[in-house]
Amino acid sequence: MALKEWRYEGGFHDLEAPDADCELCDHPDIRYQFEIRNRFTDAHLQIGSECINRFGISATGDDGEDLDAAGTRKKVSRDRRTLVEEARKKRVISVGRSILLEETWTAAKPACPS
Ligand SMILES: [Zn+2]
Repeated sequence: MALKEWRYEGGFHDLEAPDADCELCDHPDIRYQFEIRNRFTDAHLQIGSECINRFGISATGDDGEDLDAAGTRKKVSRDRRTLVEEARKKRVISVGRSILLEETWTAAKPACPS
């Protein structure tokens, strides 16, 4: 595969569980998927963030320019941090919601007749 044809343009997803395979190297247990696009065929692959660096895939910068290896690494690690941070926030919200539900339930519980 000619990896020079592929670009990482900033598409990424959090699957919320590590249960996907990297579509480039078949590495299992991917949780954070990064999307790369073939500039000629428009095909897409969902791969692990470290594979972008490992296979030397270039990221596209904010102005549509190709980033060099250092720039790509910086962009990938920034995007990965964003994903991890969003996942952490989501977890805090869902924990907060279940505490709230429990409190509502306790408050609504009828008092035992004495
Ligand atoms: Zn991979």
